[in-house]
Amino acid sequence: MAHRKKLILAVIDGLTPDVFEDAVETGSAPALAFLAHHGSYRRGISTFPSLTPVCLSSIATGAHPDIHRIPHLVWWHRGERRLVEYGSSFAAIRAAGTRRSILDAIFNMNEQHLGRDAVTVYEALEEAGLTTAAVNITCYRGRRAHLPLVPGFTRPAYGPEQFFFYSLFESEVTGAPVAVFGRSTGSIDAYAAYVGRWLVTRDSFDLLVYYLPDYDFASHALGPGASREALARSDAAVGALIEAAGGPDEFLERYAVVVCSDHGQTAVDRALSLEAAFAGIDNVLVTGSNRAGMVYRLPSCREEPADLARRLDGSPAAEVVLWGEGDEAVARRDGEELRFAPADGGWRTSGDASLLDQPDALERSWAALANPNAGELLVSPPLGVELTDLAGRSHLGGGSHGSLEAGDSEVPILTVGLDAEPRRIVDLAPLALAHFGVERPAYADAAAA
Ligand SMILES: [Zn+2]
Repeated sequence: MAHRKKLILAVIDGLTPDVFEDAVETGSAPALAFLAHHGSYRRGISTFPSLTPVCLSSIATGAHPDIHRIPHLVWWHRGERRLVEYGSSFAAIRAAGTRRSILDAIFNMNEQHLGRDAVTVYEALEEAGLTTAAVNITCYRGRRAHLPLVPGFTRPAYGPEQFFFYSLFESEVTGAPVAVFGRSTGSIDAYAAYVGRWLVTRDSFDLLVYYLPDYDFASHALGPGASREALARSDAAVGALIEAAGGPDEFLERYAVVVCSDHGQTAVDRALSLEAAFAGIDNVLVTGSNRAGMVYRLPSCREEPADLARRLDGSPAAEVVLWGEGDEAVARRDGEELRFAPADGGWRTSGDASLLDQPDALERSWAALANPNAGELLVSPPLGVELTDLAGRSHLGGGSHGSLEAGDSEVPILTVGLDAEPRRIVDLAPLALAHFGVERPAYADAAAA
């Protein structure tokens, strides 16, 4: 068998194609520029809602939310009749119950919420006898139990063989500095760099999923494109891997690489709430956060989804409203409707197709609606609008993401030492499996066909 390189998948949270391309052209991110000069680059498309837990689950499983079942940052758990809040803001975590939210974000998302039919790259590759490593990525499900390092906590998390998660779980003692889950300090990438250097130095993995959140945090606060200092830190974290391998030539000799982000970001100039449109209606629950909203019909709600959707006509918080009706999906925008359903490897539509002209909008909308944990309505707001979270917080004056719009949905995808031309974040896990000659889950084959 030919020499097969090990693979590193680096995810820089919230990095937009514009910022990536500029950093490469100007050389302001030297490690990324070096990789770009030896690789092949394209703009790719995220999933919907284009929110971190949803997107990272798509990256790690190669599935949209219809399969992986993570619907949003905040959602209504029908089985347990409660809200799940993974961390829209500290205030939203408090509003949802701090202990519960922390358990949801750290344990339950992987152990209970992530769909059983979804296969993570760690599960698939370790099943085939390979070693995988995950650093800080929130979609980490694997088969090995790891006990928390926090005194008093005894509940294990099931992750890959090499599992490093914000100083809470560390499969080996590395001496890395403490990183706090919740990422308020912008120090997470430095922790990742320490662990990454340790893993590369010891040649401890076949696949490394290397997640770098600091850029997204800065971009939420300052706005997209205004976070060069944070990008420098992400770049340094990638550079640390190159250095640990013994230099650029040695690094490229040993590793194939994918660098991508999970979603884009767009500027926020208005913070609005969806709730007002449903005032006085019984048994309707709205979950909003960042740039995506969902509306749940609770038992004994008498209004049909189409009725609820019409209540958002003229709302400045809603640009596209989506719901399912029979075996079709419906998109409503400016009072017009488009009906669509998959047919013969493409789409059957009736109505004005330009209502859903955003990137891969039919595919992404369909998959989001087909998620059994999603609300009956999905709402994609117009550019500039952010939906306030449970505690009324927003990133007004900064950046956000979550919608179908191109700015939230386009991501940079750089591949180095790989023949594939992935154009969606759901292509990355199948690419990793194909690289190691491991069979892809059936859902990935169907999506690629
Ligand atoms: Zn993100």
